[in-house]
Amino acid sequence: MVQAATLPRNEAGIETAVGILKQRFGDRLQTGAAIRAQHGHTTTWIENQSPDAVVFPHSTEDVAQIIRTCGAHKVPVIPFGTGTSLEGHVNAPAGGISVDLTQMNRILAVNTSDLDCIVQPGVTREDLNTHLRDQGLFFPIDPGANASLGGMAATRASGTNAVRYGTMKDNVLSLEAVMPDGQVIRTGHRARKSSAGYDLTRLLIGAEGTLGIITEITLRLQGIPEAITSARCSFPTVDAACQAVMMTIQYGIPVARIELLDQMSVQAANAYSGLDLPETPLLLLEFHGSDSGAAEQAETFGQIAAEFGGVDFTATSTTEERNKLWQARHDMYWASLQLRPGAQGISTDVCVPISRLAECVTAAQDKAQELGLLAPIVGHVGDGNFHTLVLLDMEIATEVSAAEEFVGWLNDLAISMNGTCTGEHGIGQGKRPYLVKELGAATAYMAAIKAALDPDNIMNPGKIL
Ligand SMILES: Cc1cc2nc3c(=O)[nH]c(=O)nc-3n(C[C@H](O)[C@H](O)[C@H](O)COP(=O)(O)OP(=O)(O)OC[C@H]3O[C@@H](n4cnc5c(N)ncnc54)[C@H](O)[C@@H]3O)c2cc1C
Repeated sequence: MVQAATLPRNEAGIETAVGILKQRFGDRLQTGAAIRAQHGHTTTWIENQSPDAVVFPHSTEDVAQIIRTCGAHKVPVIPFGTGTSLEGHVNAPAGGISVDLTQMNRILAVNTSDLDCIVQPGVTREDLNTHLRDQGLFFPIDPGANASLGGMAATRASGTNAVRYGTMKDNVLSLEAVMPDGQVIRTGHRARKSSAGYDLTRLLIGAEGTLGIITEITLRLQGIPEAITSARCSFPTVDAACQAVMMTIQYGIPVARIELLDQMSVQAANAYSGLDLPETPLLLLEFHGSDSGAAEQAETFGQIAAEFGGVDFTATSTTEERNKLWQARHDMYWASLQLRPGAQGISTDVCVPISRLAECVTAAQDKAQELGLLAPIVGHVGDGNFHTLVLLDMEIATEVSAAEEFVGWLNDLAISMNGTCTGEHGIGQGKRPYLVKELGAATAYMAAIKAALDPDNIMNPGKIL
């Protein structure tokens, strides 16, 4: 494991706060070692730092009481959605209380005529879409994991549909949140746009629980398109595939999804998902619109792809075939792990201007090879965002240091290309050094906001800054 920094613990405060909250919440506060470990970081090479207790609120008032109690005793509060974040976001470096929001999982309202809904933070994206399907609506943001909408808002998540529908920052209309002083605020209402004051909605989105706990989310919804066409096309090289992506975006084709799998990822998908794809770099696409519109977009893409050596272009509107391909895409993390059973997977998350994408992906492949790392690549390439999943034997020290070198090198490269070290996963503990490299003096203003709203640093300390 890679060590995460620890922070000083307030032992007396923690003991007092746990005692008070135990009285208030009874069995809804747990202190067993296993449940505490589950609520620390579990997904990557960053070591697990367990909280001292886990509490399960049912209401905004429960959350307010937890924060007020912890605030009074200067005890850290770590919000928890489903724990799928990848950069140590839910670790407790100073101990404290993990606030597990999974039991705040009600869909409070769906306003079909306004295309919006109000949910509690523990609703997962799959549960929301199952609920919406009969009403002809869907929520487009789809991280590979079935994450909670509170966690997705807190990490400013996105996924395969972001190229058409944007990220969480574009799809949240307003929030209810409990702030570090225990006050409950609403950052807006259901209007599609507003010029009312500072944009606290977007301040809390991506704040990773460091400025408060989100207790209600008002989301924009989309109508399920009349027609959905999926397509796939194989390319001789990753560079050719990326050039085709760039041209597709520059042509203004309103592609709904455009995902890259490099050769190694295609091999993994074939083996894991029982597919029979040509084992060369692949683009997977989806087009939304009317019957003729979606088909026309697919056809135009096919012509662009051919210019860059794209072969085996196949388009389909059949739901079964489409679902099979996209399920394989969503299973890529697990499929890639099977390339090296027992390995730990470390995902990078750089995002660059689309004109630099081909160069960045190719350089990443070359560097991984130079360092002797097994590192398949997938990417939401319509946004310039891609993930290298480095597959590591954590027992081999030279491999771990090569992976550390690779991750640092790639983050630096993306930043030097006017990109970012994180397109969607967030900063957490793991990417803190790169935030400073990326945004320099701006991080001092972030620190000033944090200090003003949370002077005792109780909200998810040790993250982002
Ligand atoms: C296989 C796999 C694939 C993934 N693919 C993607 C992808 O395509 N796109 C993407 O964006 N991410 C992806 N991720 C990362 C992860 O799924 C996202 O970051 C997700 O948004 C985290 O949601 P969660 O509910 O698991 O949150 P957690 O991991 O529980 O929490 C994440 C952060 O949000 C805070 N938080 C949680 N709930 C609240 C709340 N109610 N109020 C305030 N703060 C809160 C936590 O304190 C923490 O800092 C992937 C992860 C895995 C394991």
